[in-house]
Order: sequence, then structure tokens, then C-alpha cells
Amino acid sequence: MYYSAIADVYEKIESTTKRLEMTDLLVNLLKNTPTNIIDKVVYLTQGKLYPDFMGLEIGIAEKLAIKALARASGAKETAIEEEMKKLGDIGETAQKFMASKKQATFFQQPLTVEKVYETLDKMAKASGTGAIDQKTAYLSGILANASPKEAKYVLRTVTGNLRLGIADMTVLDALAIAYGGGKEARELVERAYNISSDLGRVAKVIAENGLEGIRRFEVSIGEPIRPMLAERLSSPEEILEKLGGKCAAEYKYDGERIQVHKNGEEITLFSRRLENISKQYPDAIKLLKNQVKAKTAVLEGEVVAVDADSGEMKTFQELMHRKRKYEIEKTMEEYPISLFMFDALYVDGKDLTLKPYLTRRQALEKAVKQDEKVKIAKSITASSPEELERFFLEAIEFGCEGLVCKSLSEESVYQAGTRGWLWIKYKRDYKSEMTDTVDLVVVGAFRGRGKRAGTYGALLLATYDIEEDVFQTITKCGTGFTDTDLAKLPEMLEKHALEHKHARVQSTLEADIWFEPALVLEVLGAEITLSPIHTCAMDSLRKGSGLAIRFPRFTGNYRLDKAPEDATTSAEIVEMYNKQLKKITEA
Ligand code: ATP
Repeated sequence: MYYSAIADVYEKIESTTKRLEMTDLLVNLLKNTPTNIIDKVVYLTQGKLYPDFMGLEIGIAEKLAIKALARASGAKETAIEEEMKKLGDIGETAQKFMASKKQATFFQQPLTVEKVYETLDKMAKASGTGAIDQKTAYLSGILANASPKEAKYVLRTVTGNLRLGIADMTVLDALAIAYGGGKEARELVERAYNISSDLGRVAKVIAENGLEGIRRFEVSIGEPIRPMLAERLSSPEEILEKLGGKCAAEYKYDGERIQVHKNGEEITLFSRRLENISKQYPDAIKLLKNQVKAKTAVLEGEVVAVDADSGEMKTFQELMHRKRKYEIEKTMEEYPISLFMFDALYVDGKDLTLKPYLTRRQALEKAVKQDEKVKIAKSITASSPEELERFFLEAIEFGCEGLVCKSLSEESVYQAGTRGWLWIKYKRDYKSEMTDTVDLVVVGAFRGRGKRAGTYGALLLATYDIEEDVFQTITKCGTGFTDTDLAKLPEMLEKHALEHKHARVQSTLEADIWFEPALVLEVLGAEITLSPIHTCAMDSLRKGSGLAIRFPRFTGNYRLDKAPEDATTSAEIVEMYNKQLKKITEA
């Protein structure tokens, strides 16, 4: 196929302002393209050589392009640069210089799409010493055989300036019309794209095997599936009504979404935007290698930052430190992670995207062997607003953003690339940020594991309730303790240890070790939240709820000057909660 055929269509597309006309032009181009190169033509019309997830760009610098143009046209680089400044576009500049080329080349061969693609591909892959010279030579080689119009589009393509504005959706329309028998085929074609993110492969399959091929189109390991997204509602009543009175509710972990592709020993991770982010998470890959039992799989989950010592979840912001390109080893140590898996889209040769939620969840449970760091998202089946609300508060307290409520119906397929009502997220509208420290009484402890074996993993802390003269739990705190603190805490607390919960302590949690209320510690948290678990100010703001501190951290201050009754009171916490309550403003 001659490259001039593409260049002519580009020119027409550029001059149209109507989407329909653009689609028609594309339909004609695709119809006239030999099927064996239709994938390449599709990539080229979007200024690419591969689907985005491959992460390979042509990315030629303007300087190099000018050099190649000078070589091919016989003009001086300075003259080209001057003209570039005036026209502001490398394409038009090229067109102009190629048209006034001093001397016609005698051995000019017509450019074919195959040749252009192959050369651009070599340019994209050239690396190491001499790569710049090689790229310049390749490019001037194409330009030497190009007409002025062809030169214009080749140069725009290689410098990333093609910008014809052909969106993915336009290509899908055009494919449905050109090879699927009409617009009715669009939905099927779109699904194929949604489960492969590869317009080129979709084009090839439909051009070669028609709609039947598209019907048989399946998930392929290594090609990211476009993510299913959730709608949002702000009350459990509305959510249950929308989902038919019953739903699966899962913790909405606050981290980064990952799509795991496993092919034997090889594991690739894709981000929500379908970028290959395997390099950022060598530790996640190692964990998954050990814990995913299926030989081949596509699974989804959330990577969450956790505290190295206590294992508690950290905020999303902490995870963002992992975005640094360098010193991955160091950031890996400083910001360890856990994985919470929530969907299975393909397992051991079976495409599960069209199976209902429960089938996929069961497949997930079979495919993943859970351990300390790789877990399956916590979930319940809820059929009352109260159950849902309780689970929601528990999720928030645990460090999550809220819940994702999922349809249990037979139609609850994985809607790749769609934000729909099969998943509904339930996040908070309000939050009460903590700005002051509080002084809390140690009433219990949980044994540590790993590095903390022999000392405490976390302490159970309480406020003082004046009216009832009791201590009410408000948080579990395992962060902020230095090695020295951890060494001396058992010594400070052991003398207060009890066989059972102290009579003046109100707690629904079962600590491993109980203490007589004595030691007061200063703590700062991220926010105060309603809690179905902690007893601080129970029922005073909402029936069945107490208050808890999220993301608590010991400041290092032992308040030895304070008696337990001098600790922050439950009433003060209520006041803090109300005073700091603010509407969350976000997209
Ligand atoms: P948000 O900023 O609220 O995460 P979003 O547009 O990225 O919005 P949504 O589909 O609206 O994504 O919300 C679901 C997101 O929540 C997923 O993209 C995923 O990253 C995250 N998530 C955490 N836990 C779960 C879970 N159990 N099931 C599904 N998604 C979950």
C-alpha cells in the first residue's frame, strides 16, 4: 500500500470539522487497506506504532528531524530553523523544503506504508551509542523518497505532532462500519477493544474474520483490560435500592489499582491508566509470584502502603513516594506495601469477564493463596442499610476510603471500560480532620509479630469518660514508636498487666494483654471518625456508633505528669469531632 494513500486521507481529515465525515474518510481508508497491515495503519492514524500499553514512542526531537530534512532536501539547517520559526510546524516546513528541493533524486522509489512503518519501528527501537546518527539516517532515507505531502505527515508523525484528532471511539465506529456490517456491530467491537486495549488487534481480527471473530475475541494475557469503574451514591438506602435490596460490599482500599497479568513465571502489572508499572513494584511481583496459584491469570487489586512495623495501613499519599523512578530498592524498604485483590478476569485459560460477580470472586479465592501481605478484599453480603453502614464505618476506621458495593445479580459481568451501576462506591461526604494532639490512656496491647516479636504490635488506647468514670477505647496505635520505646514499654506496662479487662474499661475489642489504666501517651491522628467498634462517646452522636481516631501516631511524649483521669475526655473528643467536621470537596 502506498503511503501517499494515507497522506491523502490525512489531508482530508485535517480539513474536515465534522465527526461523521471524519468517520467516513476513515471507513474508506480501512476498506482500502490490505488486511495484513490494517493494524499498522490504525496505529499510524493515531500517530503511534503500537498500542499505548507497550510504552514505545517514536519520540524524535525536532533538532534531529531538521537535520534529516536538511540532508534529504539539500537545504541548510539554519534556513530550515528560520522557516520553522515562521511557520511553527515541522510538517509544513518539510513540505515547503521538499517542494523546492534543488535536485530531484533519480532513484526515487514510491514510499509504501510497510516501508514507512518498518523504518519508524527501527527508529523507535534504536538505542545506545550511535542511535542518534542511525535515526537521522533512517529518517532522511524515508524523506529522500517522499513527496512534499508525504514528508509533511512523516515528520509530524515522528515528532509526535500528527494530531488528526482521531479518537479511539471514532476508529471503533469506522471498524464496525467497514467490516462489521454497520453501526450495530459497534457494541461488540467496543467490547473487544475494552478487553484488549489494542485497536490494532481488534482491527486485524474484524478485517480477517469479521464479526464472528469479534464474537470469539477473548482476553489475552499481557494486554491490559480497560478497568470497570463504579458510580457513586451517598446513602446505604439508595445503594441497596439500586442493587435490588442486596449486595456484596467490599472495603474500598485507598491505594493504587493494579491489574496483574500472570503467565507462568512472568508477572506484569498495569496501572488504572494501563501503563506498565511493573518496575515500580518489584516487591508486589515477588509476593504475587508466591501467592497466585493459578498458572495464567488476570487479577485486579489495590496496592496499599503499610507501616513497616505495625502493619497498619497508611494513606494514599504515602504510597505516592513509590512513584520515584530511582532508588526503588530504598523506597521499597521505606514504604512497604500490601495487596488487596478484588477481581479475577481470567484464570487458567478461562476468560471470566462475562461471568457474574460471585463466580469471579470464587475464582479469585481459588487463584490466590492469602497470606499476611496478599489478601482478598474484605467483604460481606448486606441486605440492610444498618449492616452496610456498620461495615462502612469499620472500613473507614481500618484506613479505607469507604466501600465498593457490588451487584450480585446474574448479569453482574465485568463491564470493562465502563462506569456503571453494577459497582457503586460509598465514600464519606464529611470528614473531621484532627489538628491537635490528645492524651490517651493505655488499656491493652496486641502482641507484635516479625520484627516486633516479643514486644507490642499496637497499643489499645482510651479516653476518660467523666460521667461514668470509665475509660472508653478510641484507637489501636502501632505507629510512632522508636526501637527504644518498644524496648522500654513492656517494662513500663508490665506492672499494670491484668488477667482480664479492667472493670473501668469499656471495650468491644479483645486485647492480647490488658492493663490497669495508668500510662498516658500523647497521640496525633489524621482524623476522628464514627466507629462501630470503639466505645468512646458511644451513642452520643449516632446510635450504635462511637468515635475513633484514624491513622494515630505516638508523638514520643510520655505524659508521666498526667494521671489516667487527666487524659482527654470522651466529651472533648465529641467537641473536636463537631468542630472540625468539614465537607469533603473533591471530584
Ligand atoms: P476513586 O478516586 O474514588 O478511586 P476512580 O475513578 O479511580 O475513583 P472508581 O471506579 O470510581 O475509580 O472507584 C473504584 C476504585 O476503587 C477502583 O478504581 C479501585 O482502584 C479502588 N478499589 C479499592 N478497593 C476496591 C474494591 N474492593 N473493589 C473495586 N475497586 C476497589
